[in-house]
Amino acid sequence: MPRAYPIERYRNIGIIAHIDAGKTTTTERILFYTGMSHKIGEVHEGTTIMDWMVQERERGITITSAATTCFWTRTRDERKKENEYRFNIIDTPGHIDFTAEVQRSLRVLDGAVVVFDGVAGVEPQSETVWRQADKFGVPRICFVNKIDRTGASFEKAFQSIHTKLTPNAVAVQLPIGEEDAFAGVFDLFSMKGYAFEGDFGESVKEIEVPSPLMEEAKKWREKMVEKIAAEDENLLAQYVEEKEIPEEELRKVLRKAVLRTSLVPVFCGSSLKNKGVQLVLDGVVDYLPNPLDLPPVKGTDPKTGEAIARHPSDTDPFSALAFKVATDPYVGTLTFFRVYSGTLEKGSYVLNTTSGETERISRMFRMHANDREEVEELFAGDIGATVGLKATSTGHTLCDANNPIILEKIAFPEPVISIRIEPKTKADQEKMGLSLKKLSEEDPTFKVKSDLETGDTLIAGMGELHLEIIVDRMKREFGVGANVGRPQVAYKETARKGVEAEGKYIRQSGGRGQYGHVIIRVDPKERGQGFEFINKIKGGAIPQEFFPPIEKGIREAMDKGVVAGYPIVDIAVTLLDGSFHEVDSSEFSFKMASSMALQEGCRKADPVILEPIMKLEVVIPPDFLGDVIGDISSKRGQIEETQDRLNTKVIAAKVPLSEMFGYSTTLRSLTEGRGTFTMEFDKYEAVPQNIAQEIIEGKRR
Ligand code: GDP
Repeated sequence: MPRAYPIERYRNIGIIAHIDAGKTTTTERILFYTGMSHKIGEVHEGTTIMDWMVQERERGITITSAATTCFWTRTRDERKKENEYRFNIIDTPGHIDFTAEVQRSLRVLDGAVVVFDGVAGVEPQSETVWRQADKFGVPRICFVNKIDRTGASFEKAFQSIHTKLTPNAVAVQLPIGEEDAFAGVFDLFSMKGYAFEGDFGESVKEIEVPSPLMEEAKKWREKMVEKIAAEDENLLAQYVEEKEIPEEELRKVLRKAVLRTSLVPVFCGSSLKNKGVQLVLDGVVDYLPNPLDLPPVKGTDPKTGEAIARHPSDTDPFSALAFKVATDPYVGTLTFFRVYSGTLEKGSYVLNTTSGETERISRMFRMHANDREEVEELFAGDIGATVGLKATSTGHTLCDANNPIILEKIAFPEPVISIRIEPKTKADQEKMGLSLKKLSEEDPTFKVKSDLETGDTLIAGMGELHLEIIVDRMKREFGVGANVGRPQVAYKETARKGVEAEGKYIRQSGGRGQYGHVIIRVDPKERGQGFEFINKIKGGAIPQEFFPPIEKGIREAMDKGVVAGYPIVDIAVTLLDGSFHEVDSSEFSFKMASSMALQEGCRKADPVILEPIMKLEVVIPPDFLGDVIGDISSKRGQIEETQDRLNTKVIAAKVPLSEMFGYSTTLRSLTEGRGTFTMEFDKYEAVPQNIAQEIIEGKRR
C-alpha cells in the first residue's frame, strides 16, 4: 500500500512552553481546528483531551509525551486533499521535574512551536527548554499567547525573546489591539488584518485596521523584510535596490532561514479567546521542516562500530527510535516510536539492537486526540505506537534485522533523590515489584533499587514531585498499598587527587591458593564525566583473561564509597602493573585484589561527598523579597540574580537539594501563599566539611 501523504507534507512538531504559558489550551485549539476534537475542553474544567491521565487532570500539568496525528490545510489554500498536511504533535511536559520527557520529545520532533505568556514574556524555564532545543538544533517558531490578558504587551514579549533567547527573532505579525481590546492579528507579509469569528473563532476573516496601527506595521514590516533579505543574496540585491519583494519569495527565504535556525519568526494571539491559532498552524506548514529537510539520522553498525546513516526514505532499511513507553488503560503497554527510514508492516519482526531481542509487531496504531486508528503499515517520517513489546524501553532502536543500526542514545540525567517504600501486605509486595518495573520502563529517570544492607526497596527520581506522582500512579493504577519514607538525597563520592594504590589478594591456606595482585592509578575526572577504565599494563604482567574481572572488581567497589558509603563517581582508573601465579591466580582473586586497590586508592585520594545542587527560581510579590532571600541564604543558597518582572520579583539561586525538602510549605508561609517556585537539577558539588560530618554520622536525612 503506498503512503497516503507524501513525506513533504508531514510536520512532526512539539508545542513547548513554560508551565502556565498556555500549551494545553493551545494544543486543544489546534486539535479543535484540525477537526479532530469536536468539543473544546477547558483546562480548568478538567476535561482536556491530551491529558488523559487522572493525575495530570488533577494537577493540571502535562507529564506524558503522547503523540497525536491531525490534518491541516493552510488558511490561504483551497480546501482539497492535495493541500492537506499531516501533523504529528508530540506532547512535551511543562514541568521542569520532567526535563527528561522534554529531551526525549525534542529528539524525535523536527520542529517546535514555543509558546510564551504575553504578560510574562520569557520566563527562566522557557530559557532552559530553549537551550535544550538549541542543543538538538530544533527549528522553531514562537507564539506569544495571552495577548488578551491585562498587562500583555507583544512588543515587550518580543523584546524579551530577542534579548534573552535569540537575536534571530523576527516578528511576522502584530496584535490588533491588546488586553481587553485585542481584536485580531495583523500579518506583516500580506499587510492585512484578520479577525476570528464564530463561537470558537473558527472562521478567519479579513478586516480593516485603524491607520495608526497601519503606520506602526510599516515599521515592523521594514525590519522583517530587512532581516529576511539578509538571508539571501538575491533578495538582498532586490532589497538594496528598493524593489518590492513578492510575499511568497519572502516566505520561501524565511523558511530556509528557519530550517537552519538562523531566523525565528514570532506570532501572536490568544488561544483562550480563540484568536490567531490558525495562522500559527499556517506558520508550521510554511516554516517548520518536513522529514526530508533534515540531515539523515546517524547511528552505528552494532557489529563493526562503524558510523552509518539512514535516509528518510521508504526504500532505505527500516529504522525507528522508541521514545515513549506508556501504559494505556485499554490496550496495555504502548510503545511510541518514530520511523526514520523504511517501512514497517503489521505482523513483521524487528530487531531491537539496544537489547538484542527480536520483537514481533502484532498491532500498530496512529494516535488521534480521542481515538486510535489501527494501521497496516507505517512509513519513513511516521510516528506510531505498537503494543506488546517485551524488551523495548525508551531510547531503544528498532530496525531491520538484516540491516542493523543503533541510533544515537538519548542521554538522561541520573536521579538525585530517593525514598524508601514498603508494601503494606504480602500481596502488595508482588504487585509493587511489578508496578515499579513497569513505571521505570516508562520513565528512564526513574530507578528502582534495593538497599543491599536492609533489603528495602528504594525508588529514585529527579525531584519530590516526580516521585510523588509515581507513588500516586502506583497506588491508583496498580492498586498497591505502600508506606512511603522521607525523601533522601542521592549523595555521591569522588576523589580529588591522583594517587597510586596496590591491591593484593593472596591466600595460601589449605587446598588451592588464591593469588591476585594489581597496581592502579586513581585520577579525578570532571563532574558528570563518569567512570573510565584505562589499561596500561605491559609485557604480560597479568594475563589478558583477568582484565575483565579486574574492571568488574573496580566497578563493584565503586558502589560503596570510602567516606560514607555512597557510590563513587567521576574517576579514571588506570591499571598500571601487577603479578600473577601460574596455578593460584583466578578471576575471583583478581576481582578481590582490584576492589581492594580501589578502596585503598580512594581513601588516599582526598575523597569527598558530593551533593546535588538545584537551580531555583522563585517568583514573589516585592514585599517578601527580604524574607525569601534571607531564607535561601540560610539554606546555603547562593543568589545569582534578582529581577523585576511586572509587579513581581524573580529570584534566581543555586541551593543544595538537601536543604529544599518541603520548600513549597516554607515558601507558602513566608509569602502568605503568593510565591511560586520551580527547581531543576543543576550539578553535583562537594559538600562543606561540617555538613559532611553530619552526613557521616547519619544526622542528615
Ligand atoms: P500550560 O500549563 O502551558 O499547559 O497552560 P494551560 O493551557 O493550562 O494554561 C494555563 C492557564 O492560562 C489556564 O488557566 C488557561 O485558561 C490560561 N490561558 C491559556 N491561554 C490563554 C490566553 O490566551 N489568554 C488568557 N487570558 N488566558 C489563557
